[in-house]
Amino acid sequence: MFELGRVEEASSDVRELRSGSPPWHVDQAPFPRTPILADTRCDVVVVGAGITGSFVAEALTRRGHSVVVVDKLMPGRGSTAASTAMLQWEIDTSLSELSDMYGFEKAAGLYRRSFTAMTDLTAFVDALGASCHFTPRSTLYLGSADTGLAGLSAEHALRERAGLPGALLDRGALADTFRMIRPAALLSPGSAEADPLCLSLNLLRTALLHGAVLVEDEVVAYDWTEGSAALTLASGPTIEAGHVVLATGYEMPDFLRSDNHRTVSSWCIATCPQSPGALWHDRVLIWEAATPYLYARTTDEGRIVLGGEDDDTQDAAEREAATPAKVARLLSKMRELWPAARYDVEYSWSAQFGETDDGLPLIGRVPGAPRMLAAYGYGGNGITYSFMASRILSALVEGEDRAWFGDYAIDRTTP
Ligand SMILES: Cc1cc2nc3c(=O)[nH]c(=O)nc-3n(C[C@H](O)[C@H](O)[C@H](O)COP(=O)(O)OP(=O)(O)OC[C@H]3O[C@@H](n4cnc5c(N)ncnc54)[C@H](O)[C@@H]3O)c2cc1C
Repeated sequence: MFELGRVEEASSDVRELRSGSPPWHVDQAPFPRTPILADTRCDVVVVGAGITGSFVAEALTRRGHSVVVVDKLMPGRGSTAASTAMLQWEIDTSLSELSDMYGFEKAAGLYRRSFTAMTDLTAFVDALGASCHFTPRSTLYLGSADTGLAGLSAEHALRERAGLPGALLDRGALADTFRMIRPAALLSPGSAEADPLCLSLNLLRTALLHGAVLVEDEVVAYDWTEGSAALTLASGPTIEAGHVVLATGYEMPDFLRSDNHRTVSSWCIATCPQSPGALWHDRVLIWEAATPYLYARTTDEGRIVLGGEDDDTQDAAEREAATPAKVARLLSKMRELWPAARYDVEYSWSAQFGETDDGLPLIGRVPGAPRMLAAYGYGGNGITYSFMASRILSALVEGEDRAWFGDYAIDRTTP
C-alpha cells in the first residue's frame, strides 16, 4: 500500500523544546520513522504527533484503519511536552458561567460528559499498560478575592444539581485540612496527573504496533473533494486518504479559521524534590478562581510543578524575555499559598496553547472542507479533551454521528 523508505530511528530527548525545559524525561527506545517516497494512500492521515494525534491514531488503528501520522518535529514536542498534565474533568469555564451562556441543562451535560471522559481515560490508561506516572487525584479549586464563599457555594450547588461529586470547604475547613488560607474551596474527586510526554509517546507506540506509519515531514498543502482528502509533504509526495485529521496544536492551517479561538502563552516551573512533609495534604491538584489563575501539582519525585500567568504573548522571543518576571510572580503567589516548601527552581519553561470563548474545544468536521476533521483549542484541560476528540473523530471517520458532537463543533456560535 505504501512505498516506504528505510525506517529511521529518532531519539526521545525532550530538551529541544524551544522556550525552556520541563521535567518530563522519557527513557524509551527510539521511535521508528518512515520516509514516504512516492504518492500514497491510506484510510486516515493524522497531522500532528502530539497527544491528540496520538490518541486519534491509537483509536483508529485499534479499529483496524490504516493510518499515517505526519509530524514535522519529533513526536510530542509541541505543547504536549510543555503540559503540566493536570487531567481534570472540571472545565476552565465554571458551571455557573457555562449555565449563563447555554442554560443549566446543556451546561450540566457538558460537565457530566467531561467527568465521564476522565473516568474513561482512567480506565483506558489502566488498560494501556504504561502507567506514565498516571495517578488519580482530587482537585482543590481555591476561591479568590472575587470569588469567595458565596461564589463557590453557588458553583457547588449547581454541581450537586448536575449530579457531580465534590465538597465545599469554608475558610476554616480549608485551613484545617490543607493549611491554606483562602475564603473557600471546592474539593472534587475524579481527576488525575500523568507525565504527558510519556503518555503521548506510549499512545503513538501502541498505534505503530497496530500498523500506523510515522512520517517526519511538514505538511505544506491540503486538498479535498466530496470523496477523499489529500495533503502534500514538504519533501514532495502527496498522501490521499478517506479522511485527514488535523491535530496540529496551536498551529492551525489557514483554511481553518474560527472567531472562537485564540492562542495564549503560559509559564511553568518545577521545583527541586521536596521532603514528604513539605507537600500539601493528599497532593491534590490546585487551581483557582482568579484571572490569571495559578495551577499546581506534585510529581512522583516530589517536585512542585506550578504554572499560570497566562497572557496573549505570541512571539517566542517576547515570551522568553518575560520569563524571569513571570517566574518571580508564580513563586511569590505559591510561597504565599504554601510557605512550607523549598522553592529552588530546577526547571522553567513556557509555551502556547489554544483556548476558546466558552472553554470548550473545537472538535469535528472542518466547515467547507469535506473529509477534513480537526481537534483544537482545549484550554487548561486539553488532555481530557484530546481523549474525547479521539472518540468523536473515530466515530465520524466511521460515519457515526451523535447530536452532542455539535456542542464542540468548529463552527458553533458562542453567546
Ligand atoms: C504550559 C502549558 C501547560 C498546560 N497544562 C495543561 C494541563 O495541566 N492539563 C491539560 O489537560 N492540558 C494542559 N495544557 C494543554 C495541553 O498540553 C494541550 O492541549 C495538548 O498538549 C495539545 O496537544 P496536541 O497534540 O493537540 O498539540 P501539540 O502537542 O502542540 O502537537 C501538535 C503537533 O503538530 C505538529 N505540526 C503542526 N503543524 C504541522 C505541519 N504543518 N506539518 C506537520 N506537523 C505539524 C507539531 O510539530 C506538533 O508536534 C497545557 C499547555 C501548555 C502549553
